[in-house]
Amino acid sequence: MARRKKIYEGKAKTLFEGPEPGTIVQYFKDDATAFNAEKHDIIEGKGVLNNILSEYFMQGLGQIGVPTHFLKRLNMREQLVRSCEIIPLEIIVRNYAAGTVCKRLGLEEGTQMPRPIVEYCYKDDSLGDPLVSEEHIAAFGWASQQDMEDILSLALRVNDFMSGVFYAVGIRLVDFKIEIGRVYNGDFQRLVVADEISPDSCRLWDIETGRKLDKDVFRRDLGSLTDAYTEVARRLGVMPNNPPAAGKPTLVN
Ligand code: 5GP
Repeated sequence: MARRKKIYEGKAKTLFEGPEPGTIVQYFKDDATAFNAEKHDIIEGKGVLNNILSEYFMQGLGQIGVPTHFLKRLNMREQLVRSCEIIPLEIIVRNYAAGTVCKRLGLEEGTQMPRPIVEYCYKDDSLGDPLVSEEHIAAFGWASQQDMEDILSLALRVNDFMSGVFYAVGIRLVDFKIEIGRVYNGDFQRLVVADEISPDSCRLWDIETGRKLDKDVFRRDLGSLTDAYTEVARRLGVMPNNPPAAGKPTLVN
């Protein structure tokens, strides 16, 4: 079989050239990193769970008319996505205070935000993804005014959808990060939700007990990350048939 061309290797995913022009294969690795990759571990089965969970959210968003880069899941670790130009911003939506906003504003963890708050960080690991304002984004040309309006609207629609889906299974969506890509069609561009949506990029707390079911389990050594992600997948009814296992991808029909 011909070897695929690797396009990019990130901390949690590797991207390969897809079978058709304009497509990319996104491979979910078991690597877990935190604090700008200062902390690193291999968590067996994480890639399988994130692949399936991201498929679930991207498909759900597609069904309510939110455009995403997702095309189809190929196997337990890979999905086919539309190639897009990633806007160099991390778009963060916060419903409750946690993480960096607590330090920045002196808020107690768990404080409910007066309304969902959208923040933008400049995607640059060497700088630690710093928080930026819309002024920076406009002045440095990372996104236009129209893009910013569309990004805000997409972020809030994703938040409404995901908050509802999680609430229905007893999980509070505290905050999350998404990335947005541009897809070109001739002279026209449209924005799509790209990258992944998984417990790696969200904060998820059990509504009853407050148990953390997201990457904070790894960041703060709170137990088994696989157990936490498995619990999320189980509640959403998307557990893979076979328990997650590391190793080579297997084809599903
Ligand atoms: P914080 O700013 O509190 O660190 O993160 C806010 C939310 O965005 C959290 O759900 C966190 O998991 C997510 N997030 C922030 N930066 C990154 C990142 O570089 N990668 C991933 N996967 N998620 C991020």
